[in-house]
Amino acid sequence: MKINVKRVRESNLTKVNFSDLGFCKYYSDHMFIADYEDGKWSNFRITPHEDINLSPACTTLHYGQTIFEGLKAYKNKEGEILIFRPDKNAKRFNRSAQRMCMPTFPEKYFIQSITELLKIDKRWVPSEENSSLYIRPLMFAMDSYIGIKPGDKYVFIIICGLAGGYYSEPINVKIETKFTRAVSGGVGFSKTAANYAAALYPAVEAQKDGFHQLIWTDGKEHKYVEESGTMNLFFVIDNKLITPPLGDTVLDGVTRDSIIILSKDLGIDIEIRKISVDEIINSLDNNSIKEVFGAGTAATIAPIKTIGYKNKKYHIPQLSRDSISSTLLKSLNSIKYGETEDKFGWILKLN
Ligand SMILES: *Cc1c(COP(=O)(O)O)cnc(C)c1O
Repeated sequence: MKINVKRVRESNLTKVNFSDLGFCKYYSDHMFIADYEDGKWSNFRITPHEDINLSPACTTLHYGQTIFEGLKAYKNKEGEILIFRPDKNAKRFNRSAQRMCMPTFPEKYFIQSITELLKIDKRWVPSEENSSLYIRPLMFAMDSYIGIKPGDKYVFIIICGLAGGYYSEPINVKIETKFTRAVSGGVGFSKTAANYAAALYPAVEAQKDGFHQLIWTDGKEHKYVEESGTMNLFFVIDNKLITPPLGDTVLDGVTRDSIIILSKDLGIDIEIRKISVDEIINSLDNNSIKEVFGAGTAATIAPIKTIGYKNKKYHIPQLSRDSISSTLLKSLNSIKYGETEDKFGWILKLN
């Protein structure tokens, strides 16, 4: 892959307020782009982060052939840049692509385009505590064509945005039993726009009742919990850590997978199995549920403090310092920031 580079004249880094990074409030100076035409990828380039031109007939705007990824780069104490499990994102990106009838982007190109972009924007990987550079690859159809068929032209882009080390306050979530995020045979496992657009209305309705997010249940009976729409879910019931299985309605989170591997390593009793809403409500009623948290790249681990179900709100006790979620968070972060040995081979160090 030969990459043409056009650099910015002046970096935007001087405009960043590092004491208030937020999440993707600031984009790095450059982006990566590649075009797909006549059955192959070409025209690999790194350019200033800028707007792109689209035809109003662009099929993506009408029919939604678009997918994305999300991963992070961290800086260690030596100032080296560490990328967390980009191979997992590359594989998932291509599973999403296949389902959406889009071309795959070769795994080695995916990794190389990220590393080459980060070499140019390396000063954008922050060193503030718990901060990182969020990397957002995406791909969409570029054909200007009204009519439903798979595109012939696509574009692959990577942009990067700063992510601050915010402390996530425990959140309120509602178990959704009317609307559906994903059904078996559908696209729930794919990181594609449709899943998120369809989830907006139910989420906004729940926000009116003071909930930050939803817990989605299966689309058939609304009987089993699935995930949270941007995060996978974990429950600590009777001192066992439990997470629902994947299947085609749940996104295969890299954070989820890392937590499962770490739990086994730390000797935490972990079960991957279906969890019914009834089981959750019963264990809330008899106080056997000790922790509930979401897991995803953006928030890492987000503790949940209230669960709403059928007009009732259930409260989960305050987390202790030695809670399973804080143990996992510490252990995950120490790998991401290169403070402990990378014994699972999760870190790609930029050289
Ligand atoms: C991205 C995402 C997650 C979390 O996946 P990570 O790889 O851990 O960031 C969970 N659910 C959905 C629907 C997602 O889009």
